[in-house]
Amino acid sequence: MSRHYIVIGGGAAGYFAAVNLKRLCPEDKVTILEKGNKVLSKVRISGGGRCNVTHACFENGLLVQHYPRGSKALRGAFSRFSVADTIAWYEERGVKLKTEPDGRMFPETDDSSTIINCLMNEADKFGVELKLGADVKKIIPAESGFSLEMNGGGTLHADKLLIATGGSPKLESYNWMKELGHQISFPVPSLFTFNTPQSPLTKLMGLSVPDAQVKIEGLPLVSNGPLLITHWGFSGPSILRLSALAARELQERNYIFDIRISWTGTKKEEEIRLRFSEVRMIWNTRQIAVHPLFDLPKRLWEYLVEQAGIEPEMKWADLPKKNMNKLINSLLHDTYTVKGKTTFKEEFVTCGGIALEDVDFRTMESRKCKNLYFAGEMLDIDGITGGFNFQSAWTTGWIAAQGMGQVD
Ligand SMILES: Cc1cc2nc3c(=O)[nH]c(=O)nc-3n(C[C@H](O)[C@H](O)[C@H](O)COP(=O)(O)OP(=O)(O)OC[C@H]3O[C@@H](n4cnc5c(N)ncnc54)[C@H](O)[C@@H]3O)c2cc1C
Repeated sequence: MSRHYIVIGGGAAGYFAAVNLKRLCPEDKVTILEKGNKVLSKVRISGGGRCNVTHACFENGLLVQHYPRGSKALRGAFSRFSVADTIAWYEERGVKLKTEPDGRMFPETDDSSTIINCLMNEADKFGVELKLGADVKKIIPAESGFSLEMNGGGTLHADKLLIATGGSPKLESYNWMKELGHQISFPVPSLFTFNTPQSPLTKLMGLSVPDAQVKIEGLPLVSNGPLLITHWGFSGPSILRLSALAARELQERNYIFDIRISWTGTKKEEEIRLRFSEVRMIWNTRQIAVHPLFDLPKRLWEYLVEQAGIEPEMKWADLPKKNMNKLINSLLHDTYTVKGKTTFKEEFVTCGGIALEDVDFRTMESRKCKNLYFAGEMLDIDGITGGFNFQSAWTTGWIAAQGMGQVD
């Protein structure tokens, strides 16, 4: 007898699950219910319209390190559907992915509609049904399967149900899952940039330091990498990574905290002092402010020199010890007070969601409610920027499809 599988949510995870499920069970009916009037809307805007589909990281042990939440559960999941499987899946359907020098992978077309068209064609080819404007209000477990109450009236029956409604930083968005017995890990935003209102440094906006080290005062978290000075504060991979690592703690602090920047990355104080001694000898007649050390951008060097109370014309030979120590201290431990956050437009996600212990990652089935499955960002899984969040959506969506398609 033909069965009806319903996928709630027409995003990356829901679509990927639906097309894989329908292919597995061509005789059964698969329906995607999407509350909006468009599907795959995040895929469209993702990666600045290019869609950063995944990341060229083929060692699962390394891959999971890019997920501040969910790394343990994903380890097994990636062994079932990996980055290489994602690349092959799209390539089999005529979509070639290319790798950027930092490892991010995009469609060769540099256009997210390539991914959207691929998923939509696949859904059409196998006959996945789609209902737009279908907002699920309540899920009622029935004798066999579920009864879905829709906003605006009407009820639908599903033999098996996949919830792929994405992340939300509002706890009430998860109420219906709570009612079905699931624990919710408190949702908060992840992947944001730091605001430093009134900091004189913001006048250096647009300037980027390729290898900085950033720490949050009072937390044992460090992030290394490119740092960007913006007109509102700090951004760039090192900041976004830190925002993800400390998403929960920073929300508890109401986004008011101090950060410490080492503009020279992982260099130790002895190394910096040694370089200063060398430069004092070889450049003794040169002006300090004019020649940056450690490949720092010139305007940043000038700023740090000025903050250390060093006159613009001062020469290396005349640098007083007190000012030298001040400059070295700023290079290594420059402190700024962050007051507030700004959404990173390229990619933002939710930290928190369905507690992972309530889900069997071999099938993505709920441990609390039989025949109910989860995939994507509504789980307590989130990655840093770089294609990791979509990879988790493809992987969990694919596993859910296999799990739902199993004959009972
Ligand atoms: C601006 C931006 C750019 C991004 N860029 C990237 C990137 O380049 N690479 C990357 O890896 N990640 C990126 N991400 C993160 C990535 O988009 C998400 O992690 C991913 O889309 C999650 O997929 P999902 O299917 O779980 O949820 P979503 O894509 O959020 O889809 C959920 C769907 O469910 C629908 N829905 C919700 N509630 C209901 C309901 N009650 N009834 C019916 N339907 C419902 C929603 O309308 C939505 O269409 C980006 C995120 C943003 C915001």
